[in-house]
Amino acid sequence: MHKYDAIVIGAGTAGLCTAALLAQAGYKTLVLERQKWVGGRARTWKKNGFIVDYGIHTLRGNYQQVFHPLGIEVQKERMPLSKGILLEDKGILHKLPKLSSLFQANTLKLKDITLLLRHLGRLFLSNPRKLFPISIKQWLDHIGADERLNKLFRILSMTLLVCPFLERASLGEFLLNLRHLNITGFGHPKGGFRQVHQALIWKIRNCGGMIEIAQDVKEIIVKDGRAIGVRTHEKEIHSKLVVSSIPVQHLHTILDESLLSSAYRRLIKNLRPTAGISIDFGLKEKVYDEIMFLVAKPDILGSFTSNIDPTTAPKNKQLMTFFNVLNVEDVRSRAKIKDKQKLLEAKIFSMFPKLENKIEWKRTLILEMVDGVELNIHQTQDKRPDVQVPNISNLFIASDSTCAEGAGGDIAFSSARLCFERIKRLVPLR
Ligand SMILES: Cc1cc2nc3c(=O)[nH]c(=O)nc-3n(C[C@H](O)[C@H](O)[C@H](O)COP(=O)(O)OP(=O)(O)OC[C@H]3O[C@@H](n4cnc5c(N)ncnc54)[C@H](O)[C@@H]3O)c2cc1C
Repeated sequence: MHKYDAIVIGAGTAGLCTAALLAQAGYKTLVLERQKWVGGRARTWKKNGFIVDYGIHTLRGNYQQVFHPLGIEVQKERMPLSKGILLEDKGILHKLPKLSSLFQANTLKLKDITLLLRHLGRLFLSNPRKLFPISIKQWLDHIGADERLNKLFRILSMTLLVCPFLERASLGEFLLNLRHLNITGFGHPKGGFRQVHQALIWKIRNCGGMIEIAQDVKEIIVKDGRAIGVRTHEKEIHSKLVVSSIPVQHLHTILDESLLSSAYRRLIKNLRPTAGISIDFGLKEKVYDEIMFLVAKPDILGSFTSNIDPTTAPKNKQLMTFFNVLNVEDVRSRAKIKDKQKLLEAKIFSMFPKLENKIEWKRTLILEMVDGVELNIHQTQDKRPDVQVPNISNLFIASDSTCAEGAGGDIAFSSARLCFERIKRLVPLR
């Protein structure tokens, strides 16, 4: 006799979304989270009256794939583009989105725009999936783009895919995410990402589901090729089906590897995440008015978060976060990461000199995994792992490293929906 219909391992975005959908559909659901907090890589932190997400956390559109059927809404602050995006070029800050700033910043010349107009139409009419194996760099070379256009696409690919590395960023994934963005737009969940997680927790509990924190799952129990429950550090719990929402790369830490084919093991272990350094500054005073800062080489994205969502900082104070996208190998190297950190701070203080004397607190995060998968030509949707573990029935995956559509957190949301639909079909409630 099963105590639960579904056990979900992990209470990050994907786990909570899947659990909420299952609980609403009538599955008796238990979520087990090893930390003492929920939210995983999108958790929120409180510091001296500031509400600080785990690095820059903007909401794109895929959350609606889960929130719409759950009948819950997220209060979202739109990015007031009119307040300005700062673009750095040769040490000078140019304020976008005024088109003239693009020219002043030497980002574009008239001939670049003409070239883009000639080729973008055809690109937008193409099937993005056919462009999965083509890198953005290959396409730029093909159309004869110069250094300025390469720089512009480096910034765009960093912003959209967290992959400024044009020689491997997938053109098809870029296009899919760009199209999607047109429909849904960027936004910031009011009061940080915890709003998203709190709504999901409320839904799970309201539908009779349970969430247990500080429960480290040690093993998924598989009997006769079927997942039948989990073993934590303190107990064994049985269920009809199991969903793992830990990063797919770590699945082998809780599943007997001999149950997986060598090809599948290779696939999941070798998935390349995005990585980097994130620095938050809580400022004693508000010193800047803009909302975003973008620069290529070093690849930095800055968010003046409290100018987008004033609830994230106490009155008259300011929250700013800078994120430097790096190759995961650089983040893993102690020597390299120290240099990168120094470079990042030097760049921030040279661009924003008023900041240094106003720091109330600072938090630095060295991140080996930002998004579960980098959207490069080797890891496009068609090549990433499915939401079902092969050869083991009733074992599913919801995570931002699966084959679901989107980038980063958007994959987490859409994987939850995909996983739920699959469960409903394969393990229906009687
Ligand atoms: C600095 C930073 C900035 C980001 N910015 C954005 C952004 O702007 N927009 C966006 O869409 N995405 C962004 N992301 C990515 C986004 O945070 C992730 O895609 C998303 O949070 C992944 O959710 P997940 O549920 O798949 O995985 P996770 O959040 O990693 O959740 C997995 C959960 O499983 C738990 N767990 C692990 N092992 C066990 C175990 N053995 N037993 C029990 N529990 C376990 C973990 O503690 C965790 O809570 C950012 C990420 C970072 C780090």
